[in-house]
Amino acid sequence: MNRKKIIAGNWKMNKTALEGGTLAQEIAAAVGKETVVEVVLCPPFTALESVGRAIDGTAIRLGAQNMHPERNGAFTGEVSAEMLRALFTTHVILGHSERRMYFGENDAFINRKVLAALANQLRPILCVGETLTEREAGSTLAVVQRQIEGGLQGVTKEQITTIIIAYEPVWAIGTGKVATAAQAQEVHAFIRNLITKLYGQALAQKVRILYGGSMKPSNAPELLAQPDIDGGLIGGASLEERSFLDLITAAAAVNQ
Ligand code: PEP
Repeated sequence: MNRKKIIAGNWKMNKTALEGGTLAQEIAAAVGKETVVEVVLCPPFTALESVGRAIDGTAIRLGAQNMHPERNGAFTGEVSAEMLRALFTTHVILGHSERRMYFGENDAFINRKVLAALANQLRPILCVGETLTEREAGSTLAVVQRQIEGGLQGVTKEQITTIIIAYEPVWAIGTGKVATAAQAQEVHAFIRNLITKLYGQALAQKVRILYGGSMKPSNAPELLAQPDIDGGLIGGASLEERSFLDLITAAAAVNQ
C-alpha cells in the first residue's frame, strides 16, 4: 500500500506571529508546490493567521496544536474547532504527551476532542506513546493500545482514514534519544494491527501513522523506510528551515 508520507512540524510554544510568518514564507518558497509529501505546519494559535497567509495558495496545510471539544462558552483560554476552521486550519494535534503530562489530559477528554474535530472537518493527529518507566516495565504496547482505543471511541469506519496517528515515545521527545527504526516499526505495526482489528484491513492499510521523537535529517531516512512509518511529527527540527526541508526531501525520497 502506497500511503502518502506526511511531514508535520509541531512548533510548540515557539515563534511569534511575525517569526512564524517568515519561517512559513521560506518553507512555502521552497516546497509550496510539493505534492509527493503532505506538509503540515502547526504553529501556536497566535501565529495561525500569519502562517495561514504565508502558505495560502500552496499545497502546505495548516494545523493547530490543540483545541477544546466544546463549540463555545465559558472555557477561558481555550479555542474551538470552529475558531480554527475560520482561520483555514485543516489539521489539529490532539493528545500530545505534553498536554497529557502538563495539563492532565486523559484518553476520555482527548476522545471528545477527536470527535469534535471530525465533526468540524478537521483532521486529528492523535498522539500516543509510552513513558520511559512504562517502556522499562514492558507495558509499551498495553499503554499504546489503551490510548488508541480510548482516543478512537465512537470513531466510525467512514471517519477512520481521516485520522492520522502519531506514535511518540515520550522518552524520545526533545531528548535527542530516538527510538531505533526497529523499536518504532514494532509499535507502528502493532498500531496498524489494532486498527485492523477495529476497522478491518482495507481501512487500516490507508491510515497514516507518523513517528515523532527527535526525528532529524540524519535519522529520518531509516525511520521513514520502515513499512508502517508514514511520516514524521517533528518538534525541534521543524523550527529551522534547513532541517525541516531536509526532512521533506527524505520523505519524498522514500515515497518514490
Ligand atoms: C513532538 O513534540 O511532537 C516532537 C516529536 O518533538 P521533538 O522532535 O523535538 O522530539
